[in-house]
Amino acid sequence: MTSKTALDFNPEGTVVNVGGVAIGNGRPIAIIGGPCAVESEESIHRIARAVKDAGATLLRGGAYKPRSSPYTFQGLGEGGLRYLRAAGDACGLPIVSELTSTERITEFEELVDLVQIGTRNMQNYELLKAVGKMSRPVLLKRGLMSTIEEWIMSAEYILDGGNENVILCERGIRTFEPSTRNTLDLSAVPIVKQQTHLPIIIDPTHATGHWDLVESMSLAAIAAGADGLMIEVHDQPEQAWSDGAQSLKPAKFKRLIERGRTVAAAIGREM
Ligand code: PEP
Ligand code: MN
Repeated sequence: MTSKTALDFNPEGTVVNVGGVAIGNGRPIAIIGGPCAVESEESIHRIARAVKDAGATLLRGGAYKPRSSPYTFQGLGEGGLRYLRAAGDACGLPIVSELTSTERITEFEELVDLVQIGTRNMQNYELLKAVGKMSRPVLLKRGLMSTIEEWIMSAEYILDGGNENVILCERGIRTFEPSTRNTLDLSAVPIVKQQTHLPIIIDPTHATGHWDLVESMSLAAIAAGADGLMIEVHDQPEQAWSDGAQSLKPAKFKRLIERGRTVAAAIGREM
């Protein structure tokens, strides 16, 4: 079987178009910003405006949240997705949200520009086959206990289904180190680039679990050659319904982007 993720399958390098934003193969570094979860219509509009003003190029927000505990906030569901869509449209940002079930495919096909497959579902092969049939691009996060090879094989499921618009996202893997929520594997960036033609972005937020580590890991990710960043932003992180401790306030997010542009320029990239 020829591998559809391999570099020689598309030596040109894949550029994924997400609602008009081109990601990969030397295009400007994409910045996805927004809250962990959509919490209300009003708050997502407010945060969307703030991330746009800071320089984000895409808006994120979970509506179906895969939480470790069933007793914590599980997301607003379809209503939340519609609020996110409206907020993205209002400020001109394409939207990214996580799909957790094949039952929601029609809804995501209609409402979402970039369909996220979360770390816990990286090896949910029925879900991967289903998004392989979608017309929307897919953001495939690395499983928290998965090797790079297993992750690339999961991308292969999506490409083999006919959907060639896949972006990989490194979000940290589980190690013995307790200082951070996960351990960011930055070497995944050059390895993915050596082995595949797919764009790769970094999520320093879930990788570290601490807002005060997000900027330095973002700058390192840019230097390593990442095609984008996905960062959680909340204007009242202390009140956030999920992942407040790792969320940046808009002013810090803006500073990160400004400093990131300097690093990007140093390696001949735009952001
Ligand atoms: C997320 O990005 O909202 C998320 C839940 O991330 P992960 O699947 O990487 O934990
Ligand atoms: Mn989160």
